[in-house]
Amino acid sequence: MFSVQILFFLLFFVIGLVFGSFLNALEWRLHKKKSLLTRSECSKCHKQLTWYENIPVFSFIFLFGKCKHCHKKIGWQYPVVELLLAFLFSFIFYYHSLMGDFSWLLIIRDCLAVFALLFIFIYDTKYMEVSDSITLGSAGILFVLSLFLNTSWLSMLLGAVIGGGFFLLQFVVSKGKWIGGGDIRIGILMGILLGWKLLLLALWLAYIIGGIFSIILVLTKKKGMKTEVAFGTYLSVATFVTMFFGSQILNWYLRLIF
Ligand SMILES: [Zn+2]
Repeated sequence: MFSVQILFFLLFFVIGLVFGSFLNALEWRLHKKKSLLTRSECSKCHKQLTWYENIPVFSFIFLFGKCKHCHKKIGWQYPVVELLLAFLFSFIFYYHSLMGDFSWLLIIRDCLAVFALLFIFIYDTKYMEVSDSITLGSAGILFVLSLFLNTSWLSMLLGAVIGGGFFLLQFVVSKGKWIGGGDIRIGILMGILLGWKLLLLALWLAYIIGGIFSIILVLTKKKGMKTEVAFGTYLSVATFVTMFFGSQILNWYLRLIF
């Protein structure tokens, strides 16, 4: 039994690598408004990539991080995202094996959710933009999958209304100056994924993570006080933490104050 688990653990690692590679491609194509159906190409010289230039992580290593044709550097984002998603996918498998709530559908849903969150994280950090098709598309898919997992539709709907409404209100009050419209869509996704209770925790965490990170950025003089920071970056990290450790954090916090 134990060796079977290691086998699945490795399998999820490999699936994560492949999806990480897909995430990189999706990110670039959505930003450049290119079709998803064309073959992969070098982002600098636009030469089509052969299959062996397209293997997650390995291609980057044996090409020494450079394009074979134009010799320009391949961004370090590519192998990092592939490895990160590989670790996250195997973590999800490990987590649910350990938690005793193992179900394949649950694992698939969590892998999809983490894929969407990582996508939002990178896209917002890199381009200061939120892709609506990814945010709302994954919110819809996650809603349906969660229904099959007997998650309360009311809690998800309430979460979506509170999450979306929270940002909509700020958007309207500030006339779009404090936050972008994309954050409203992320709020809806968060509410569906977490339900209304954990959503509140995730929002709170996002502001704490954002606050700590802003202080670090200002102290290290990476950013001035007024520099705009993509909030979707913090929201996606907070949502991930809440998905897997939200209940523990809540319990710990409640024990601390009562
Ligand atoms: Zn090239």
